[in-house]
Formats: sequence, C-alpha cells, structure tokens
Amino acid sequence: MRLSQLFGKTLRQDPAEAETASHRLMLRAGLIHPIAAGVYSMLPLGLRSYRKIERVIREEMDAAGGQELSMPALQPIELWQQTGRHGAFGQTLFTFQDRKERLLCLAPTHEEVVTTLVSLNVQSYRDLPQLLYQIQTKFRDEQRPRAGLIRVREFAMKDAYSFDVDADALDATYRRVFQAYKNIFARCGLPAVPVEADSGAIGGKDSQEFMLLAESGEDEILRCSGCGYAANVERAAFVKPPAPNDAERPLEKVATPGKKTIEEVAAFLGVKPEQTLKAVFHAADGKVVFVVIRGDLEVNEVKLRNALKCADLRLATDEEVRGAGLVAGYASPIGVKGVRVVGDDSIALGANFVAGANLDGHHYKNANYPRDFTVALLTDIAKARAGDTCARCGKGAFESMRGIEVGHVFKLGTIFSEKLGASFLDKDGQKKPIIMGCYGIGVGRLLAAAVEQNHDEKGIMWPAPIAPYHVHMVGLQLDNPQVGPAAEKLYVDLQATGLDVLFDDRAESPGVKFNDADLLGMPLRVTVSPRTLKTQSVELKRRSEAQARNVPLAEAVAAVRQAVDEASRAATGRPAA
Ligand SMILES: [Zn+2]
Repeated sequence: MRLSQLFGKTLRQDPAEAETASHRLMLRAGLIHPIAAGVYSMLPLGLRSYRKIERVIREEMDAAGGQELSMPALQPIELWQQTGRHGAFGQTLFTFQDRKERLLCLAPTHEEVVTTLVSLNVQSYRDLPQLLYQIQTKFRDEQRPRAGLIRVREFAMKDAYSFDVDADALDATYRRVFQAYKNIFARCGLPAVPVEADSGAIGGKDSQEFMLLAESGEDEILRCSGCGYAANVERAAFVKPPAPNDAERPLEKVATPGKKTIEEVAAFLGVKPEQTLKAVFHAADGKVVFVVIRGDLEVNEVKLRNALKCADLRLATDEEVRGAGLVAGYASPIGVKGVRVVGDDSIALGANFVAGANLDGHHYKNANYPRDFTVALLTDIAKARAGDTCARCGKGAFESMRGIEVGHVFKLGTIFSEKLGASFLDKDGQKKPIIMGCYGIGVGRLLAAAVEQNHDEKGIMWPAPIAPYHVHMVGLQLDNPQVGPAAEKLYVDLQATGLDVLFDDRAESPGVKFNDADLLGMPLRVTVSPRTLKTQSVELKRRSEAQARNVPLAEAVAAVRQAVDEASRAATGRPAA
C-alpha cells in the first residue's frame, strides 16, 4: 500500500477527547473515526489489524470443533421476555418499535437466538455436542462509552455457544475452548492472563476472564504471590483477618457526639476499626437494604448483588435512609424494623463491637451477633484488597494489578435451555435440558487493548502478527534518479515474498516520515535514501529498538524477511505467517 493513497490521515496533535493511550493513538494514527458517542468507523489501517485477529480466531475456533454461523442483530423483544433478560439488561438494551408497533431490540448477546435455533434442530443425544460461533456486531446502550474502542455502544464480538448432554461433556468443551482462547491470544502476540471471574446473578458455575494487563484497565485483578491464584476483585476469595474475640460483655449505650465515621468513632472510643460494625445502605431493585459489615472491611457490590439476586443495586439516597427510619451515621442493626438486614460473615469474627444506636450522637458498645441482632442473610459480601490473604492457599498475599477484559468463558448450565425449551432425548429415551456454555472475545476491544499494552510516547508498537503491515518502507527524495527506481523495486520484491508492505512515497520531509512511521508502529522500518544508496545499502530499524543498521541492497529482501520473522517470534514464538 502506498501511503500517499491510504485513506485516513495521521494527526500531528493529540485529539482533545482522548482519555487513554489506545484511544489517542488509534485516532492519531487514523485507525478509527467516531461518528457518535461510542460509535466508530474502522478505517482501512485499523481494519487490516482487525481482520488479522479475526482470522486467528476463526482458525482456532474451527480447530476446537466450532462451526461458524451468523445470527441477526435485530430481534423480537418476546424472546428476551421469555428469559427475563429484558429486565436484567434494563436500559443497556437498545429497544424500539417497528412500523407495526412491535417492540424489537438490537441484541447485546445471542443466548436467546442460538438456544432457540438449537431447540428446533436438536432432538437426540446423537445431535450433540455442538459448538456454534459467530463474529458479529452487538449493541449496548452504555451509560458512559469511553476510551475509544474499549467501551462502545456498537461493537464486534466473537461469541460462541456450546451444547452438551451432561456436565462432564460441558467440562471437556469448556477446556477445549479455554485452550483455543490461550492459542488465540498467544498467536496474536497478546499475553492475556486468565483470572477467575464473577459468574453473576445469572447463576452459572465456572467463569473465567482473560485479561490483558494495562495500567488504564478498568478491571482490578488480585493475584496471590504464593500460589498464583488470580481473580477479578469482584470475585477474589480472601481470608478475613481475625478481630479480638473476648467473652461477650453487656450491651452499653454511650454518647459519641458528632462522631459518625468508623474512624471518628473508633478513635473516640479507643478501639480499632475491626472492633466496630459499619452500616451501609443500598437500594436493591428500589428497596432499602441495611448491610452490616465489620468496620475494617468494604462491601463488594457484585457479591452483594449476587447474594440479593437483584437486577439493580446502588447506594441508597439519604432520603431513602431517613424514610426507612434510620439515623445516618448512627444507624444500628439492633432493633431495626421493617428493613432487610444483610450481614457480612465478618460480623461473626470478633465480639463486643461498637455499633450505631440509631439515636443521634450515640453508639452501642459490646454489640454481639447473634445475641443482640439478627440478619436475614449472613454471607461473604466483603471486597478483597491488595495485601489480603489468599483463600486458596491461606498463606500468600494478594497483589493488585489492572487489566482490560478481552475474553470471557462461562459455564451457563441449563438456565437458557430450560427457559427456551432446548432439550434432547438421552440414550434411555428420557427428555433432558441441554447443558450450555458461552464464550466471548471482544474483537475491537482486543485491538484497542493491544495498542494500550504496546505503545511508547511516539506511537503504537504493534505485535508483529496483528500489525496492519509488517514493513513500513520509507523512501527519501524519491525524485532522485537512483532512489526512485531502487525503492520501487524493493517495494515490489518485498511484497512478492508475502510480506505486507506500507510504502511512504509521499513528498514529505524525513522528520515527518519517521514520526509517522513511529506513530503507525509497524514492526520494521526500511529506509531507502540517497545516503543509503551511496553504500549500496538500505537501513533497517525495529520499532522496538533505538538502533538502526544497514544491510546491502542485494540482501535487503532476505534481511527484511528475517527481521520480520524475528519480530514475530519475539511476540508469539513463531515466524510470520
Ligand atoms: Zn494463594
């Protein structure tokens, strides 16, 4: 491709709206272009990388026994009402009426359609297993689209769905797809880390996310320094630290004027935060829930939502708290009426806690569970933090890192097959629901995450396997009678070996051309100029290295091929395709 003809211009200045490196660089390099909040065109350079990722995904999914199909984005709302997800997705689901006033939606995912398809095409155990996938456009009306292709409202996703006869068969399929995912990320030169993930209120079982580590990532991951257990912070299981567990003393009301926060009350009464109980108020599907947790811990909203099995969870407003008859800052689980109380199991680890007295300016000392108060639900709803002890090995401490979720594998079980009547007859002629799994990769997001993870202050540094072009050829003074023909010949010869070559044939200064080569980030830069031709050579420079080297013109094609293969091997352990 000649850069003079390439559609999409590079920008000299950083776009004002860009929040993250990938957003800024993808706009500056002319890979994407926004048309509305969270809606982008993919320009030719961006699409080349995208297609390379797609090809790897197809090859690995096919190798894992997958069959590609294509399902519609436009779907009748009745299908979503049947599974109850019309409500669960809430405003994230794009809905609208057609001319006959029928309600339709633009699908954010395809469990409903694929399960319906399978229910009509599978009768017997002989028709199973099936692994179906597509690479298709999805829609989510995100409240806050952000960071370029990281969080968008229209996006491409590879979604796969598996259908098996029993849990063992699902395990085998899940392991196969998991391995395919590892292969996909490795072949793209993107080392994604699998972590345990929350399986959500949907009630699935195993669930793992693939994370690309990056500072700007919106997910927090905790990894045990001892055993290597890694989990999304939403999910991470940890050992709660002990608290003094003396014999229970009599409940005592004390004045704590103006002391409302845990820190203030603990300091005033001379106790540690773990000797206090914290009251936190949430609204679950609009109803106030009183959450009580030990003062040194924080509530994990994902664990709480799962425990409450609610669709919508948020902090309650002051008005809602007052309306429930609670005194903010002094609210107490003791004597509370008419409000659902949920306790973190940490309240049973320790004794003689300081708790609110539900009276302005007062607290209780020596509050004990369950002697002084009860809860409707006692479970783990606390958030693990860096430094906490790993529950897997009971020894190592968690370290925190940030990542971008690029893939998700999930054992669904029979939730969808039961609701949509997808069943089969087993060997004994008995009707059973099909056991499902689902598996996603955000293709555009993976592209953005690749840039997020591979860049420097000058621009993108593509992993060789997914670079739009392998080689960025720079011709300087192409009107020079030696340079022009030599560069044209090299351009043709390099392409003849199967390499993807971008040829900067513009009449620009060397500074502009080299800056654009750094910004666009192809793995190898090859420069032909009057100076290199004086010694019958060309200059080779890896994007990842500062030093350039000269190779004889006669050996240029072989040397470039070798350098591209080396860059590819460095990223994936294999030569370039
Ligand atoms: Zn551990």
